[in-house]
Amino acid sequence: MTQLLAGTGAPTTNAGVTVQFDSVVKEYSGQRALTGVSFTAQPGEFIALLGPSGCGKTTALRCLAGLEEIDDGRILLDGDDVSTVPANKRDMGMVFQSYSLFPHLTTGQNVEFGLRMRKVAADDRRRRAREALEMVGLGHLEGRYAHQLSGGQQQRVALARALVTEPRVLLLDEPLSALDAKVRVQLRDEIRRIQSDLGITTLFVTHDQEEALAVADRVAVMKAGNIEQIGTPEELYVQPRSAFVAEFIGLSNRVDGIVSGGAVEVLGQRLPLVDPTTADGAVRVFLRPENIEFAADGLEATVVTTSFLGSLRRTTVRVGDGLLLSVQHSVSDQPAPGAVVRLALRPVPVPVE
Ligand code: ATP
Repeated sequence: MTQLLAGTGAPTTNAGVTVQFDSVVKEYSGQRALTGVSFTAQPGEFIALLGPSGCGKTTALRCLAGLEEIDDGRILLDGDDVSTVPANKRDMGMVFQSYSLFPHLTTGQNVEFGLRMRKVAADDRRRRAREALEMVGLGHLEGRYAHQLSGGQQQRVALARALVTEPRVLLLDEPLSALDAKVRVQLRDEIRRIQSDLGITTLFVTHDQEEALAVADRVAVMKAGNIEQIGTPEELYVQPRSAFVAEFIGLSNRVDGIVSGGAVEVLGQRLPLVDPTTADGAVRVFLRPENIEFAADGLEATVVTTSFLGSLRRTTVRVGDGLLLSVQHSVSDQPAPGAVVRLALRPVPVPVE
């Protein structure tokens, strides 16, 4: 496993472990919270579990940590079935949403805690805790108590505490959700940097799609106790396999269309399908705002509102009898409310339901 802090101050990388869920079922009082979850995280991979409240993200993490017993299936680490191994023997580092530092211990003592439990000698303990704190940029705050730290600093300490024991897997359960937007972005980027320096396999639970897309190698979109789709951020965005994923990942317009012969007729254009085997008939088509452009020729529409979003502009237009579409475009186009524009759809494959 990772030599986290080899005494040089710089972590040395080493491949993490493979984490495999094989048809994992978890029930609470007969209700299935996980309905047969299967996926494999490769060594060193950063996987985000993304989905709406109650879809089973935290349950999946807790089952992997050994904090919940599973009812069926298997969980394997590097091929070894750990389904019945107790939590304290699974060697996982965890960071939770709530700040979970011990209030009566200093920052340094909090980080040392796991090493003390493992009966590591005092000198070694102190050195490793200091190095872990330096890794998260808090070497200078070793003597502070939790109430003397900001929320972002407390989560950094929690991260140092999770990593100091050199766990086989890092589990992060909404670690950023209590922080304000700016700190959240800083810390998420830092977690990603440290995780990839260490090469530690990481599972990160979030309900924030932007956060998941920004940091993860792959995102597992969960729905009602199972994984709806797992893929790279690009795959999920460009080729969502279901309406649920298309809606959950990014903004989409929903427009009526007719499928025939492996393509769909929508707003007067014929577009390819993400799933060309879709049966002929009436469907709803998901059109990304950035795949609708202003054109010299095409569908007529009237500008309703337009918003400047820094690097781009998003404009709402009304088509025909009242259909509203969101169009994303360059800030150099500045359509005025009430103006008549023409639209064309980019010929990219679209998901339908
Ligand atoms: P959130 O984003 O709101 O934290 P989640 O996706 O992490 O949601 P889980 O906490 O894994 O969802 O919960 C999945 C389902 O299992 C929910 O229906 C929840 O009510 C149920 N559940 C979770 N923990 C327990 C428990 N200890 N006892 C009974 N039911 C539970």
